[in-house]
Amino acid sequence: MAKIYFLDVTNRDGVQTANLGLSKLEKTMMNIYLNEMGVFQSEFGFPTSRHESFYLQANLELAEMGVLQSIRLGGWIRAIVADVEKTFRLVPNIKHLNISISTSAQMLQGKFKGTKSREDIVSMMVDALEAARAHGAESIGVNAEDASRTETDFLVKFGLAAKEHGADRLRYCDTLGYDNAFTIYESNKTLAEDVGIPIELHCHGDLGMAVANSVAGAKGAIDGGQDAYINTTVNGIGERAGNADLVASVLAVTKSKGFADKYQLGKPIDLTKAWKLSKFASYAFRVPIPINQPGVGANAFAHSSGIHADGVLKDPENYELYSFDELGRGEQELVETGREICSGEYSGISGFSHIMGQLEVSFDDARQAEEILELARYANVEAQKPLEEDELLFIAKYPKIAKKLLTLVPPE
Ligand SMILES: [Zn+2]
Repeated sequence: MAKIYFLDVTNRDGVQTANLGLSKLEKTMMNIYLNEMGVFQSEFGFPTSRHESFYLQANLELAEMGVLQSIRLGGWIRAIVADVEKTFRLVPNIKHLNISISTSAQMLQGKFKGTKSREDIVSMMVDALEAARAHGAESIGVNAEDASRTETDFLVKFGLAAKEHGADRLRYCDTLGYDNAFTIYESNKTLAEDVGIPIELHCHGDLGMAVANSVAGAKGAIDGGQDAYINTTVNGIGERAGNADLVASVLAVTKSKGFADKYQLGKPIDLTKAWKLSKFASYAFRVPIPINQPGVGANAFAHSSGIHADGVLKDPENYELYSFDELGRGEQELVETGREICSGEYSGISGFSHIMGQLEVSFDDARQAEEILELARYANVEAQKPLEEDELLFIAKYPKIAKKLLTLVPPE
């Protein structure tokens, strides 16, 4: 039986959201949390963007060091040979890629202005795919952008060409959130059957159905005999109305009525990391978690009305589908209400030593303390907000990697 995997795209789709972004250190922390949670792959960035180079290399180093030891790190590029060449020039040891090209008639007319035929699209994709394989890419997903507005017959042709030239997965992009659970089920069942390749479901929330469509699409792929890779973002942050939320998607496939009896995860997800991950993403993006967010919202386990409160006190299962501790919630959190010493780009050694002392970090000597402080200052320049404990601990533990993450050198 085919299985379900999660491929998170927060560090690619999430950060390309208008008005939002993450520092390179924040993106790294996201990869660490996603790895702890058991996510199969993090789409960790844009290998053709020069300002990503050091960040991408640093995270590949963390993978080699065993810090990011089971998660795959995949880059996103356009399916054109020039992008493949640039990718391996800037990030030579990248191993996993998704290459993307539009497939719909709308995009052929509206974006390429009629200069590209369907045959051109297929041959551009095949050329890029072969170039990536020639450079030694270990796995390549081929993305059909705007797949939901593409005729299924052409998607099958596109997918078969990708498969014949060695693609590992086909990404079905519901780029505009246009599908519903019924249409995405049908199209992905057909793709799985007729192309015979694992399928990624990439859904957006423009009609409020990103999670539902992901689950239905995954069911289609599996019913068609292929593994399904659900694309998610943390807290659903993504272009426009956002992507399928990671925590909600995991809850949906593991907790919804009878689904997990037949459709199972290919790699276990540790949901107890959900709370920490979601809170960090909220801090890093500066976007509050909605009060009614599944699992991690402030109201997800709150009851006030008489009948519900009475019922949940008698037996939580009366009014809760799952328990708060399954999501890593339930611990008291300390909020400083008095004096606060926090990190900043103009921090000095005294305040910094105080903060690190509270985190039980000690330094060998003054020189080492000064070195870590300097890195923390630079991290603050990029983040423009006090660093989180885990970020400070990361800098203290991996100063060489931190230095790489904080190095931005514009091209000559
Ligand atoms: Zn997207």
